[in-house]
Order: sequence, then C-alpha cells, then structure tokens
Amino acid sequence: MKPIKTSLWAFLVILTALWWFTDTPAMASLNNFFDWRNVLMQYSGVLAIGVMSVAMVLAVRPVLFEPYLGGLDKMYRLHKWLGISALLISVSHWLLSESPKWLVGLGWMARAARGPRSPVPDDPIRQFFASGRGLAESIGEWAFYAAAALMLLALIKRFPYQYFFKTHHLLAVAYLALVWHSVILLKFDDWSSLLGPVMLVLMGAGSMAAVMVLLGRVARRRQLVGEVVGIRRHDALQVIELDIAFQGRWAGHEAGQFAFVTLHADEGAHPYTISSAWANDGRLTFIIKALGDYTSTLAQRLRLKDVVKVEGPYGRFNFEGEKTRQIWVGAGIGITPFIARMKTLAKLPDGRSVHLFHSTRDFDANAISLLERDAKAANIGLTVLVDARDGQLNAARIAAQVPDWRDADLWFCGPSQFGQSLKDDFATMGLSQDQFHQELFEMR
Ligand SMILES: Cc1cc2nc3c(=O)[nH]c(=O)nc-3n(C[C@H](O)[C@H](O)[C@H](O)COP(=O)(O)OP(=O)(O)OC[C@H]3O[C@@H](n4cnc5c(N)ncnc54)[C@H](O)[C@@H]3O)c2cc1C
Repeated sequence: MKPIKTSLWAFLVILTALWWFTDTPAMASLNNFFDWRNVLMQYSGVLAIGVMSVAMVLAVRPVLFEPYLGGLDKMYRLHKWLGISALLISVSHWLLSESPKWLVGLGWMARAARGPRSPVPDDPIRQFFASGRGLAESIGEWAFYAAAALMLLALIKRFPYQYFFKTHHLLAVAYLALVWHSVILLKFDDWSSLLGPVMLVLMGAGSMAAVMVLLGRVARRRQLVGEVVGIRRHDALQVIELDIAFQGRWAGHEAGQFAFVTLHADEGAHPYTISSAWANDGRLTFIIKALGDYTSTLAQRLRLKDVVKVEGPYGRFNFEGEKTRQIWVGAGIGITPFIARMKTLAKLPDGRSVHLFHSTRDFDANAISLLERDAKAANIGLTVLVDARDGQLNAARIAAQVPDWRDADLWFCGPSQFGQSLKDDFATMGLSQDQFHQELFEMR
C-alpha cells in the first residue's frame, strides 16, 4: 500500500506547489471574502480536475505504470482513492461557488454590488474564453452533480458490481464535460505559466482515456479469444478448474499474474489469477470459487467449447525479492497464485527456501493431494490448516513454524482483512513493510 499512499500525496503536493507558485500574485491581495473565494475556487478546481485526470488514465489499465505502482490491483486501489479525493475536493469547490448565494440568503452577508462590466478583450482567444464562461459554469455544475452521484454509487459496496461497472463508464462523459468547464474557467494567464502545460498534459491524457472508455477500446491489444477445453469440478470446495486454449498467440505470463476473463458476454470480464505456469502451449488454467452471484452459476453454465475472451496478463505478485527465504500464505481461493508459482518452480527452481501455509474453511482431500503433489515437485514446505480442525492461522503460528521468518519475504493472497491483520501482527513483531507483499483480491 506504500506506493499508493506515496503517489497520491506526492501528486497532491506537486499540483499544490505548481498552483501556489503560479497564483502567488493573486494571494498578495486577499482583501475580502470574494478574493479568498476566487483563489480557493481556482485551487480546488485545479486539484479536482488534476486528480480526476489521473484517475481517468488509470481506468484504461496502463501496464506501463505497473512496476512503479505495484501492479494493476494496486493501481485500481489508487484509482479508488483518487476518486474519493476528487469527490471531496469537488464538493468543496461546489460549496465555495454556492456559498455567496447561501450567505446572502441567511442575511450573513450583503449582496455584492455589481461593478462595471469588464471590458471586452481585444485578443480573440481571450474573447472566446470570456464569452464561454456562463455556459462552462452551467455545464460544470450539472457534470459535478452527475459525477458526484456516480462516485457515491461506486463506493456503496451493496450496489451490484455489474451495475456499478455499467454506471461507472458514464463518469467518462461527466469527466469530459468537467474538462471543458476547467479549460474555460482556469485563469487565462495561468495557461502561459508552468501550471498551464501540466494541466494541458493531464486533461489531454484524461480526455484520451475517457474517449477510449466510451468507445470500448480499453486494453484491446491485450485481449485474446479462446475456447474452454477442460472443466474439472471440486464440488466440496465450490470450485471449478477451467482450461482455456487460445485461437491467437498469448504473449506469456509470470506465475502470480491475473487476467480479466469474459466467460459470458452478458456478464462481462472478471479478474482471476492464472493458476498454470506458462508452457508456451497456448493454454491457461483458472481456478474459480463460487464467491458471489455470478461465479455461483459457473458450475451449471460453463460448457466445453464455450468461446471466451481473456485480457492480460496483469499484476506484480511476482515473488521477486532479495531474500533467499520466502513464506507464502494462500488463504482459501487465494491459493491460486501459489499453485502457478509451484508449477513454475518445479521446472525452474530459483534456489530459495519456501514454506507455504494454506488455510481453508472447506476440506477436499483430492484438492489437498494435488496441492501436496505440486509442493513436493517444487521442493516447498507445506502446512494445510482447516479452520474447524486446526483453528485460525496467525503470525505467531507462522513464526513458530518458520523460526528464521525475520529473514524472509512474505507473500500473501486471500481475504484483505486477514492480510491486513497478518501484516499488522508481523509489523508489531518487527517485520519491515517492504517484506510483506499482498495481492488485493478486491478491485472496488
Ligand atoms: C487480482 C484478482 C485476482 C483474483 N483471482 C481469483 C481467482 O484466482 N479465483 C477466484 O475464484 N477468484 C479470484 N478473484 C476474485 C473474483 O474476481 C471474484 O470472486 C468474482 O469476480 C466475484 O464475482 P461474482 O459476480 O460472482 O460476485 P459478486 O457477488 O457479484 O461480487 C462479489 C465481489 O466480487 C468483486 N467483483 C465482482 N465482479 C467483479 C468484476 N467483474 N471485476 C472485479 N471484481 C468483481 C466485487 O468486489 C464484488 O463486491 C480475484 C480477484 C482479483 C481482484
């Protein structure tokens, strides 16, 4: 989570600094409420559209940033926090814009006397910007209402993912309207300062991303059509194992990466970890647990020869690191990246000493024997804990079983709350944050 927090704060600080140096003259003469309001509206406006632009760019899944931000799962987490920041900042911007009306209505402030009309500028470009202000203000207000409602919907987890996904696309339309609002209402002279080109790049990149979203062009080059060639059911675990063979050429993947898989067009893409090692044979395996409304229907709906779409690979859950000792924790269906890694290590050992903990609520002897087979082939220590039989896994139990845990990198995949509590406990025991790696199994 460190790169996410650092990137968010660094971006807010840099944009604030740029705006501060650009608008210093305006801040030298803050004499009354309206001077303050104007300056703060410019500041909140610059921050809000800047933050929205980065969120928009991240929405098109630019793999370019994955190494710096720790993978697409973390990029989506950053996208979410940028969205929350944009919501808070744009609400402040709106409150500032409406405040004079309300303060006059409450009798706390006298209606501002209308000054003389500003002279019409000679420069045609200035004229264009000045004449568009009224329309840009109205467009901005309505786009803000729409964007705020859509962002709030995105935060309500009870709102079904499928509908969230569809409505969230509409944010691209609201964003384009807000870009227009910002271009016209940013102080004209700011365009020729350092802030101007930065805003131009941010809004230009954000607008291109918004158009890609609206035209359905996101990550087209990373999508491939395939066919279901194998289905294995593990009913006791409510899990299916699915083999897909490609019609085109899959560029390959690393163990631990995931892909967006569209098994049914009416449902759209879901992210699943690729649980097979890449063998250059045009085949991938996914292990999918019935965790929700749609995944619960797969055991009945999926058929051999179904045509599917796979987009990826994504993610940086790549088991890299300087330590020669690794501890893996795969909780429940979070075991999938470790299966892929074990299959890779069986062919290409990396010389590390690894112990895998798999905690599970449900027990299936066949699935556990497959896991034991993979662990043996990869020369990896394995501890399986069934909740009802063995109790909960925690940091103390891991430390007791792996005495040199301080010299290990820990890789976790599973429910996010479990990951967080393990991370906190190990941090208290002295494990550095950099040694704890977690795949975020939730995108929203
Ligand atoms: C990086 C990553 C890797 C994953 N790997 C696996 C795996 O190997 N095996 C496995 O069984 N599960 C995996 N999951 C979880 C899997 O994506 C969800 O269980 C599945 O999408 C739930 O869909 P549903 O409609 O059945 O559930 P719902 O009840 O509709 O949703 C439950 C939750 O799942 C998430 N979700 C639902 N639909 C989507 C979607 N289209 N895209 C993103 N998130 C969604 C939302 O957070 C939602 O709140 C992974 C998730 C992520 C983010």
